Amino acid sequence: MKLVRMLRSNWLLVCATLCVVSLVAVYFVFREEARGRLLDEARASALLYAQALRAELDRRRHLPETLAIDEDFAEAALGGDATALNRQMEALAATTEAEAIYLLDATGLTVAASNWNAPDTFLGQRYEFREYFRAAIEGETGIEFAIGATTGRPGVFVSSPVHNDDGAVVGALVVKIDLAPLSLTWDRQRHEVLLLNDDGVVVLTGRPGWRFRTTRELSPLQLERIEAGRQFAGLDLSRLNLLDLEPERVTLDGTGYLRVALPVDWQDWRLWLLAPDRQASAQALASTAHTAVAMLVVLTALAFARSEWFRSALNVSQRERSELSQLNADLNREIEERRLAESELRAAQSELRRAAKLTALGQLAASVTHELGQPLSAMKTYIRGAQRESARNAATTERTLERLDRLVDRISGIAQQLRFFARRGGEAMGPVDLREVVAGAGETMEPALEEKGASLIRDLPDRPVTVTGGQRRLEQVLVNLIRNALDASDEMERPTIRLTVTALDGNAVISVTDEGHGVSPDLAATLFEPFATTRASGEGMGLGLAISASIVQEHGGSIEAASPRDGGAEFIVTLPLAEEGEEARG
Ligand code: ADP
Repeated sequence: MKLVRMLRSNWLLVCATLCVVSLVAVYFVFREEARGRLLDEARASALLYAQALRAELDRRRHLPETLAIDEDFAEAALGGDATALNRQMEALAATTEAEAIYLLDATGLTVAASNWNAPDTFLGQRYEFREYFRAAIEGETGIEFAIGATTGRPGVFVSSPVHNDDGAVVGALVVKIDLAPLSLTWDRQRHEVLLLNDDGVVVLTGRPGWRFRTTRELSPLQLERIEAGRQFAGLDLSRLNLLDLEPERVTLDGTGYLRVALPVDWQDWRLWLLAPDRQASAQALASTAHTAVAMLVVLTALAFARSEWFRSALNVSQRERSELSQLNADLNREIEERRLAESELRAAQSELRRAAKLTALGQLAASVTHELGQPLSAMKTYIRGAQRESARNAATTERTLERLDRLVDRISGIAQQLRFFARRGGEAMGPVDLREVVAGAGETMEPALEEKGASLIRDLPDRPVTVTGGQRRLEQVLVNLIRNALDASDEMERPTIRLTVTALDGNAVISVTDEGHGVSPDLAATLFEPFATTRASGEGMGLGLAISASIVQEHGGSIEAASPRDGGAEFIVTLPLAEEGEEARG
């Protein structure tokens, strides 16, 4: 990962390094290609030079052989007059472009020569040490490259034996060919040409420093032969400073050359053509430079594209950032507004709650004052009457006391209802069997039922119906419902109230049904709200159902009213069954 990050941040450096590496590789490829091309050219040139050389030598190779047939030469070799022969040979040398044509007698003394009148004439010179002489004397054709013993000029010497009439060798006819003009046709601008004899000695080249130097070490035998024949006029044949790198690549005097070596088909002579390797390097360098320029163009285009891309990416990111910060500011404002609205709402709610509490308290106080005021003033009247009457009439006192007793009952009934508010939450919750709750409520209501001649018909399951709750509070719910049913059946002779408990789908369902006047339609919507009542003042405060609903809700249940088809009213309480109450189902 670190490496990737580093490469990414230094991409320019990486690109430059890659370019340099690939340029170096390209250079080497181009150089190999240029070398191949140069070698092909060199091969073609070498072939031409070799052919020209061979033609030059072949042209005069048979000259001495042809001339030697002439009897005049034999005569001259044997001591005859050579004056006419000299002139004849001079003319012949001019037409054949030979450097010299001359005749040696059997001892190697020059008896006639084309250069008879030149200051360095061969006439009178002895050449018995030359190999070409020895070969001719032995009846063979002699061919030798050598530096002229008289002139000091190098040349190729071709000799042929001169026979007398008996066929005996009496002398040698020699043609000296100057190769120097040949080298003038060589294109020295482009390459160096070396002509090597069979000993590997450079006999012809455009570079004077390389002339008469060897390409390989000469054996003592070779050296002895060369010395004896004075072939190189006693020159020290030192080795060239030559190093073979590859078959076709050498260094000569520290300069690299591509080398083409060809046999000349003349003796064992060879022609070397050396093309400077720096030409290949220069060509490769030029091609590499072109490639570098192309790469630079591409890289510049890439860098430009990249910077453009960065610029546009930067623009996009800046735009996104400003949009984001705008969005953030909007969001912050919205949050602030919401917080403000929430706190206002909370304040309004708490104000509402306070107002509602105050209203409820006011209503309660008014109801209680009103409800208590009537029985209390009645009690006061009765007490005063009783005080007056007590001495006179005991029966009246008895009646007054009974009235007082009923008024006290009414006051305690009102107090009973208000007690719920004082006791709220006081009772612990636990498993409660609804059948026991029904029994408790029945017991409480028994006197009232009896008084009205009413009957409470209970329909309970055999098994416990257990809910989690407070027994006394649940009893209060049932007491309220039974009392309401009783009140609604006020006008009936012998009213019947039905109470059923069933367990259904994880719930306990308690139903209280009566056959009374039914729920007034005006009240249906606000039945379970406090102070909703149709009762006359002094008979009810409209708190019973509100309290009952509150208790049922506390137990996680619900209460609703229904109107049975055949009249009366039904109140249904649904409570969730406790875990252990499961068996009560069905
Ligand atoms: P209260 O009994 O003090 O009026 P409740 O909250 O117990 O207060 O009842 C509210 C009203 O609901 C009653 O005034 C009555 O009109 C109506 N109500 C309650 N139970 C019955 C019932 N079983 N049949 C007809 N009306 C009923």
